[in-house]
Amino acid sequence: MRKELSRLARELQGHFQGQEELGATGFPVELLPPSLPVAAGRAHGWNGHPAAVMGRDGVLASTDPTFRPVHAAVSAAGCLADLRRTTAGCQKCRLCQTRRNVVFGEGAVDADLVFVGEGPGHDEDRLGRPFVGRSGQLLDRILIAMGLSRESVYICNIVKCRPPSNRNPRPDEIKSCEPYLLAQLNHLKPKVICALGTFAAQTLLGTRESISRLRGRLYRYHDIELMATFHPAYLLRKPLAKKQVWDDMQKIQEVLGIPPGSYVGKGPYLPPKGK
Ligand code: SF4
Repeated sequence: MRKELSRLARELQGHFQGQEELGATGFPVELLPPSLPVAAGRAHGWNGHPAAVMGRDGVLASTDPTFRPVHAAVSAAGCLADLRRTTAGCQKCRLCQTRRNVVFGEGAVDADLVFVGEGPGHDEDRLGRPFVGRSGQLLDRILIAMGLSRESVYICNIVKCRPPSNRNPRPDEIKSCEPYLLAQLNHLKPKVICALGTFAAQTLLGTRESISRLRGRLYRYHDIELMATFHPAYLLRKPLAKKQVWDDMQKIQEVLGIPPGSYVGKGPYLPPKGK
């Protein structure tokens, strides 16, 4: 059912994008589903419409009764595409001054599992994609070991623009960017979030506890199961921690209903002995 809805959403998105390319900016009100709830939120100029707002829950709405977003609220893919376009021009925090690309995130819109990292690094900023480079390659191998693939999950970060010199994002930068992450999660509606590394885990869980203490247990984040684990970059420095990450991934597999031993890859990632 979920897959079928995703397929329909993709078809609708294609249709709406075609209409948009032909010059459509909206649909007659009478052809649309019941009004979107008007959420309290800050004006974003969504779809270029000055009255459009996005509530904290990521719901698009407007105080202008004639406004309807082109993609309406019928397609997660369409909503994510709108959100991606909005972030592309975002100047809400100082990180916009030094970024090369906004790294919005990528993956399956019907993903059950969403990975959230800290922020883009040098390669991600250059390419505009999350988790590329050596850390990304290791994440890919972990996914294969889980019986998954990069295409079947969604990957994003706490902040969408690279902090200069790979410093940690500052609290005001996180606060500025958080509505985008919440909107992404609201549209994706995954079963599990995996926070990668200290910073992502501490930010999502609102704690200063170390990742060593936070990892290995399931939490709730906005009604979604959340697992925190070590960042792949840490595993590159401390390969022995792979065993703990593998334990965490197996707990995620359990929540997702993936049978143990679903390893289908032939890549160099080897689950620790006994696993
Ligand atoms: S980090 Fe987030 S809030 Fe800051 S400029 Fe980039 S997209 Fe906007």
